[in-house]
Amino acid sequence: ENADSATATTGAIRNHVGEPLVVLTDVEKFFGELHVLQNINLTIGKGEVVVVIGPSGSGKSTLCRSINRLETIQSGTISIDGVPLPSEGNGLAKLRADVGMVFQSFNLFAHKTILDNVTLGPIKVRKLSNAEARKRGMELLTRVGVQDQAEKYPAQLSGGQQQRVAIARALAMNPKVILFDEPTSALDPEMVNEVLDVMVDLARQGMTMVVVTHEMGFARKAANRVVFMADGQIVEEADPDTFFTAPKSARAKDFLSKIL
Ligand code: ADP
Ligand code: MG
Repeated sequence: ENADSATATTGAIRNHVGEPLVVLTDVEKFFGELHVLQNINLTIGKGEVVVVIGPSGSGKSTLCRSINRLETIQSGTISIDGVPLPSEGNGLAKLRADVGMVFQSFNLFAHKTILDNVTLGPIKVRKLSNAEARKRGMELLTRVGVQDQAEKYPAQLSGGQQQRVAIARALAMNPKVILFDEPTSALDPEMVNEVLDVMVDLARQGMTMVVVTHEMGFARKAANRVVFMADGQIVEEADPDTFFTAPKSARAKDFLSKIL
């Protein structure tokens, strides 16, 4: 058996957690009357891998989107590496380079080649030369195992390959943290592990990651901490072994009984 597989239970990774990198303080977010994030306080350290789980509609995507400033919060603060989120302009492009995001639906540029997908951001935002960006882009495509697809277009790749490209595209910006919002939910089952394995590798290399997922194998393997959300609140947080074997809240017990 491959001990590196995301589903293997042996050899858990527990990254060293450094200084605070992503800090949310008293965050409140509404969609109209709907109080979608309620009094969120969360500190994610450098190198930490945080898995966010919870029922559909509990605010997990909104949490990720708020950290990336794709949504605006109504009160509280979010800072990245000590700097409050910018509201507009050049600051936003820099923020989105520092805070990578991988979505459920891949979100690659359909009319750009795979290599262009990973080089455009670094050229535009990080001011890399074409040659540098292509060299680094090929290294990253190799790292996620899709180097042979570099000149193809996204629609020519499988879902698993596209999601690995999306991870390479995030990495190309040298982000401080990568947010993953259900990165394997839209994949055919046989492609889930090829994406989780890339994520496990990133964790092993010390990447700071916030991962919304119901893949408990990944959480057990790589998470420092599991954050359980329900109804816009953080209801419970614990290390994965504690959370999965001895959840405290009734909400978490109920949720786990349905997915495990
Ligand atoms: P999760 O990712 O945990 O399933 P979401 O963050 O997507 O939850 O959604 C939380 C709640 O906010 C849900 O009730 C959802 O319907 C609502 N919601 C999400 N996005 C919007 C939006 N753009 N406008 C209005 N309501 C939204
Ligand atoms: Mg969601």
